Amino acid sequence: MSENIDALNQEYGHLDPLPLLELFLKRYKGAITLASSLSPEDQVLTDMVMQVDPETMIFTLDTGRLFPETYELMERTNARYNTVIQVFFPERDAVEKMVNSKGINLFYESVENRKLCCHVRKVEPLQRAFNGMKVWICGLRKEQSVTRTHLRKIEWDEGNRMLKINPLIDWTGEEVWTYIRQQHVPYNPLNDRGFLSIGCQPCTRAVEPGEDERAGRWWWENPELKECGLHRRHHSTDTAH
Ligand code: SF4
Repeated sequence: MSENIDALNQEYGHLDPLPLLELFLKRYKGAITLASSLSPEDQVLTDMVMQVDPETMIFTLDTGRLFPETYELMERTNARYNTVIQVFFPERDAVEKMVNSKGINLFYESVENRKLCCHVRKVEPLQRAFNGMKVWICGLRKEQSVTRTHLRKIEWDEGNRMLKINPLIDWTGEEVWTYIRQQHVPYNPLNDRGFLSIGCQPCTRAVEPGEDERAGRWWWENPELKECGLHRRHHSTDTAH
């Protein structure tokens, strides 16, 4: 496959989320997946994907450090859409080696340790989940943080060698919540308690009104560095292979 990302954005970048999903789910059936963290955005995308093609694989990463509310949401989502969200776990040996040499909460010690933990618990399982896939659907929005303002609706993910589509890239948080309320989409009750961006329990805290949505994630770090490795920016984004 070789496609020009600029041309794809020119042709399809204007599409609303649902028609964009319809197009890609049809074109890449069997080779397109929704990577869900069960965030409000991913729940909206789950609702849309299930409307268009309920056979689409939706998966999530169980890092082993998630909130109980997130597991409960996974169950409610499966029940609501009569589906089974596929769960990918970190490699046992890698987790044991990391924890036994650096400590169970190594991520507070340094950015390097935090990135190692995110790599072991998220990046490697993500790469396994992508096996055989050509496109991943992602719930990123520009408004979420300073690290996401450059994003486009269709991107080339050089690290994973696949297309990445961000159907909600231009949506505001208000649009996400309006959809959730109108369509009665299940969501994490922690969102009602000041948690705007929910990841692993030890790396997530509630935020104050007016704070950046991602301010509650790895709050002890520089905001410019706060990505987990799943959404690194690659400069060679013009051509997809
Ligand atoms: S968010 Fe925290 S606990 Fe989760 S994988 Fe990253 S560093 Fe580890």
